[in-house]
Amino acid sequence: MHSPKKINVNDKRYLHIEWNDGSESMLLIANLRKSCPCAACLTEKANKPATYIPLLSTAQLTLKDIKSVGTYAIQLTWQDGHDSGIYTYDKLKEGKY
Ligand SMILES: [Zn+2]
Repeated sequence: MHSPKKINVNDKRYLHIEWNDGSESMLLIANLRKSCPCAACLTEKANKPATYIPLLSTAQLTLKDIKSVGTYAIQLTWQDGHDSGIYTYDKLKEGKY
């Protein structure tokens, strides 16, 4: 089961995760926000045409806090107050965000 040993933010742009199996992931923070898996964001995305390109503010793209949720995920809090996205370790590990 994947679980992070260490998580840190690199250069304000990347989330760097060291996993318990010794591997590492580098995830672009902007992509994490754009693929926020919460119900509100998914609904919003579903209602937009496929050609829609989201325009996000700096506050929306800045991570404020990272919390672990149980043993399977992290919850990201963004500078604009959005905090309902739960990112599972499995999908983070596979780079699916
Ligand atoms: Zn969201």
